[in-house]
Amino acid sequence: MSKPKGYEYIVECPYNKSHQIENGRRLQTHLIKCRKEYEKLFTCKKVQCPFNASHMVNEPEKLHHLETCPDRVIVDKFNNPIVDSVTAALKTDAVKMIPGNQMNDEEDWDDEPPTAAYNPQKYCEENNVLRLGRGMQPHERKAFRNQEHFRLGNLRETQ
Ligand SMILES: [Zn+2]
Ligand SMILES: [Zn+2]
Repeated sequence: MSKPKGYEYIVECPYNKSHQIENGRRLQTHLIKCRKEYEKLFTCKKVQCPFNASHMVNEPEKLHHLETCPDRVIVDKFNNPIVDSVTAALKTDAVKMIPGNQMNDEEDWDDEPPTAAYNPQKYCEENNVLRLGRGMQPHERKAFRNQEHFRLGNLRETQ
C-alpha cells in the first residue's frame, strides 16, 4: 500500500506544470484559484469550446476543458442515440405497419362498403335503418308536408 490509490489520476495544472493535482474536484478547485492568479499575470487568449459555443476557456485550459467539458458527455451520448433512434424509428415503423393496416381495413369496412366483399346487402339495410333513424330527408319532409297539406285540404274541402 505504498502507492497512494488514484495516483494515475494525478494531472498537471494547465497553468503551471509544477502543480501536480489529483484530477477531479480537487483540480477544479485548484483551477479556479490558479486561473485567477494566471489571469492577473498574463493576458489570456480565450478559445471557444467546440462542444459548447458558450464555453470560453483560457487557452492553457483548452485541452483540460476538452477532456472535462460537460457537453462532451452529451455529444458522446448523442452519437449512440442517433444510431439507436434510427433503429428505434425503423422498429417503430415496422410495429406501426401492422396495426395501421388493420385500422385501415376497419375504416374501409365502415366508410367504403363497396370495397368490402362482405354482405353488401346487409350494409344497405343498415344504411336504410340509419337514414330512418336520422329522420326524414328534406325532399321526404317536403313530400310529407305536401301530402299533409293535400290531406288537410281534402279534409277542409269535405267539411
Ligand atoms: Zn495550478
Ligand atoms: Zn466545453
